[in-house]
Amino acid sequence: MSSTSEPVSQSASALHRNGAALGLAAFDSHAQVPQFALDHQKLESLGTQLLEAIGEDPGREGLSETPHRFAKWWEEFIDYDPGNMDATFEAVSTDQLVVISGIRVWSLCEHHLLPFSANITIGYLAKDKVLGLSKFARIAHQMAHRLQIQERLVHQIADEIQRLADTDSVAVVGRGVHLCMVMQGIKANDAMTTSVLRGEFQKRTDLKLELFSVATKGGYEVSIL
Ligand SMILES: [Zn+2]
Repeated sequence: MSSTSEPVSQSASALHRNGAALGLAAFDSHAQVPQFALDHQKLESLGTQLLEAIGEDPGREGLSETPHRFAKWWEEFIDYDPGNMDATFEAVSTDQLVVISGIRVWSLCEHHLLPFSANITIGYLAKDKVLGLSKFARIAHQMAHRLQIQERLVHQIADEIQRLADTDSVAVVGRGVHLCMVMQGIKANDAMTTSVLRGEFQKRTDLKLELFSVATKGGYEVSIL
């Protein structure tokens, strides 16, 4: 990642301005997992080539099964099935603020093919529909199980919440730790924060403050306010 730690107040419009640079425009707003048959044989052969390229002997004990494990790992990561995500309930009242925090996902940085973990907080103002609570974690995991950059990850989660909950007022905050930076000793313990704020979250300071106070607390929590 070339980004450094960013202020949590980075607005959706700022992200939209940078959208082209981040490759956001190229993404379908429904953000469904692309259907693609993985080439197991090619992955195995790449695993062998990788070992050779870094001066290892793919035939030595300990590495003989590595290309196979490597291929299997990629298949499981990309073929992730988040389960059914469409269940919704009637909202009790309109304009109810729902905040779900502490959703931990693992993804792969597309610049280095190295993992990053992100702590996700999702907020939205429920209109007619309230999403089932298990859906939030599933959506976050679904969007994480592909090559990503953190900025796009929070956007794709927001897109999906917006679509399923049928509301314009959606906010997603991600606090990520990237192995490509941590392992090189860059920004060793810093989490990078990215956020997307839409609808009322852009206009109302009280909603923003509520969201970020929950986002910085940590553990898994559901607040209906
Ligand atoms: Zn990276």
